[in-house]
Amino acid sequence: MDVHGLAATLRAEIGDANVLTDRAQLRTYECDGLAVYKVTPAVVVLPETTDQVRAVVRSCVKNGVPYVARGSGTGLSGGAVPHADGVLIVTSKLREILEVDPDNQRAVLEPGVINLDVTRAAAPHGYYYAPDPSSQQICSIGGNVAENSGGAHCLKYGFTTNHVMGVRLVSPDGELVDLGGKAPDPPGYDLLGAFVGSEGTLGIATEVTVRLMRAPESVRTLLAAFGSTDDAGAAVSAIIGAGVIPAAIEMMDALAIEAAEAAVQCDYPQGAGAVLIVELDGPASEVEEEFDAVEQHCNTAKAFEIRIAADDAERARFWKGRRSAFAAVGRISPDYIVQDGVIPRTALPEVLRRMGELSAERGIRVANVFHAGDGNLHPLVLFDDAVEGETEKAEELSGAILDLCIEYGGSITGEHGVGMDKARHMPRMYTDDDLDTMQLLRCAFDPGHLSNPGKVFPTPRLCGEVPGRHRGSHPLQEQGLAEVF
Ligand SMILES: Cc1cc2nc3c(=O)[nH]c(=O)nc-3n(C[C@H](O)[C@H](O)[C@H](O)COP(=O)(O)OP(=O)(O)OC[C@H]3O[C@@H](n4cnc5c(N)ncnc54)[C@H](O)[C@@H]3O)c2cc1C
Repeated sequence: MDVHGLAATLRAEIGDANVLTDRAQLRTYECDGLAVYKVTPAVVVLPETTDQVRAVVRSCVKNGVPYVARGSGTGLSGGAVPHADGVLIVTSKLREILEVDPDNQRAVLEPGVINLDVTRAAAPHGYYYAPDPSSQQICSIGGNVAENSGGAHCLKYGFTTNHVMGVRLVSPDGELVDLGGKAPDPPGYDLLGAFVGSEGTLGIATEVTVRLMRAPESVRTLLAAFGSTDDAGAAVSAIIGAGVIPAAIEMMDALAIEAAEAAVQCDYPQGAGAVLIVELDGPASEVEEEFDAVEQHCNTAKAFEIRIAADDAERARFWKGRRSAFAAVGRISPDYIVQDGVIPRTALPEVLRRMGELSAERGIRVANVFHAGDGNLHPLVLFDDAVEGETEKAEELSGAILDLCIEYGGSITGEHGVGMDKARHMPRMYTDDDLDTMQLLRCAFDPGHLSNPGKVFPTPRLCGEVPGRHRGSHPLQEQGLAEVF
């Protein structure tokens, strides 16, 4: 049965209202936050229970139909782009917070729960959920798990993977599988670790158990303005070198500040070549002591103005500019690419200088907004699609920036994932053998290669896929240590 025939079966299984086949409705789901890739799915389903997800996956597998999971569709790497002959499984009706368990510092969530709602539910108990992507008002926990999402406060508290204790998933053979749970450190292979960040290729999470953190006693935030990104970078190195780990250190360069001012009038100090937002949290006495040290390091690194947030309202004003930055560049450029790469923190000044040179050589502007503490860059490559040749130049520059990240010992994505967009860059980081070995893991979960096919890996060769290029057996296969199903 093809996917169009399958729609009738799905209607019987999960109800008419939860199956969409009308073209106008399907088009709502044709892309994620990276709108350059658009594919209209054949069928969209909106299951209301784990059993319904399972029924859909089983029907897909039985009929050899590919499927893609979608949370809120805010991904920036094309991970949730549908398959034209496949089923898109949207989790937006799976939004129940199943349990908040303050005694065990855990919460159990359906995958469509919005990130910020976890903190809202935990706050009355004195807890919060630490990973805070800038999209936290709309992105889903399932998407966060699949992308191993980060955020401003991941410097001190770690990425999603450090906060996910367990996942119940519908495996690509339609079985319910529990990885991890409320108790820490189960024996055996860390399959939960493999699942977090697997971008929908190893199955669909239908229940997620997360760690809750105690809300800090004190939070203090400063905004420091510098003449250049070099000076701001020196302050970052000095702060962390002194053993202070802020909850967040975010940097914006002059172009990013200009965009944020135009969009949200954040009123940052005039004439700044770079601003840092530094936030400390924890026990009040520790925060006071470390805050003084941070201020001193900023002064030593030639900050020309330091503002300290007097209250929550002023803190929110500091963050407003930063949080709006991606969308804000739309004010200063008709088109832009949000790039995402990571480098060792100490390489920041040199990489920023080299990026400036690449940008000047091509005549394409780059605004920089980034999680400076952990070296996660978000260069915003600005261009005008209406000007002939600019789009190609911007894309080439965007790729050259990733090469730079690799050259300095970093990687092609810090937090936005590989998805469809960066699959072609994977061979720049990994050898063919590396990629084949990763495919062996994928095959163990998804031998039919039906769960989000065409994402993450450039030229699939295993799992019975139609390959672009065969290179014989993998060394592990030859030794009889692994098999291809
Ligand atoms: C303005 C803006 C700011 C952003 N800021 C950040 C940031 O600071 N940090 C950051 O890390 N990201 C950021 N992002 C990117 C994005 O919000 C995250 O990647 C987020 O985790 C995606 O969640 P989603 O629900 O929208 O997932 P989607 O885009 O719907 O899907 C993302 C991937 O997850 C898979 N998936 C979704 N649900 C499931 C499930 N239940 N089981 C298995 N796989 C699933 C999909 O197949 C896809 O591969 C930002 C995006 C925007 C638009």
